[in-house]
Amino acid sequence: MPDSFLRIADNVASIAKGFQLRGWALGTSGNLSAVVEREPLKLAMSPSGVDKGELTAEQILMIDEHASVISAHHAKPSDESPLHIRIVKERGAGAVLHTHSIWNTMLSDIYAADGGLSFEGYEMLKGLEGVKTHEHREWLPILENSQDMLALADSIGETLGQHKDAHGFLLRRHGLYSWGRNLAQAKRHIEIIEFLLEAVGRTLFIGNRRQK
Ligand SMILES: [Zn+2]
Repeated sequence: MPDSFLRIADNVASIAKGFQLRGWALGTSGNLSAVVEREPLKLAMSPSGVDKGELTAEQILMIDEHASVISAHHAKPSDESPLHIRIVKERGAGAVLHTHSIWNTMLSDIYAADGGLSFEGYEMLKGLEGVKTHEHREWLPILENSQDMLALADSIGETLGQHKDAHGFLLRRHGLYSWGRNLAQAKRHIEIIEFLLEAVGRTLFIGNRRQK
C-alpha cells in the first residue's frame, strides 16, 4: 500500500472513532470514504458491519468506481459505497462522511414533507466552505430513504444537481451525508451541520414548552 493510502486510512479510522464517541455512528452505523486517486478513481472506504469505535487503519479498504475491493482484503465495503462514489463524482469531493445521529434522524423525518430544512442566522454557518456571514441561508435537502443503492445514488445525483450550493443532505429517518475537498473539510462540515441540526431540534422542543 502506498504511504498516501496509509495516511488516509489512519485519518479515516480516527474520524470514525470520534463520530462513534459522539453518538453519531452507533451500532456499526455510518460510513466514511476519501479519494486516494482520481484517474482511475480509487477510494479509501470503511468496511461493512464494523464498530466505528474500533475501526483500525488496517481495516480500511480500497475500492474502485464500481465499489469493488481492489486492496488485499477479504471484507465487504459499506453497502452505501455507491452513494459515496456518486457524491465524489457530482461534487468533485475529496472525502465523503455519513453519520446516523439522533438529531439528524429526527429532523429528517419532521421536515421530510418540506423536502428539506433551512438554517439561517447562525454564526456556525461560517464553518461551511464559502459561507462568509451568519446571514447566509443554508438549505439541507431531505431525500426518501431506500435499500436500492443504485436508485438512491440516482436520486442523490438529481438532488445535488438541483441544489448546487448544498453542503450536505439528509436521508429520511436514516442520516446525514456531507463532503469536502479533503477529510478535514468533510469532518468540519459534518460537525457544523450536526451542530445546526441539534440547535434547531432543541429550539423546537424548548420553544414548544415555552408556549405552554
Ligand atoms: Zn447510513
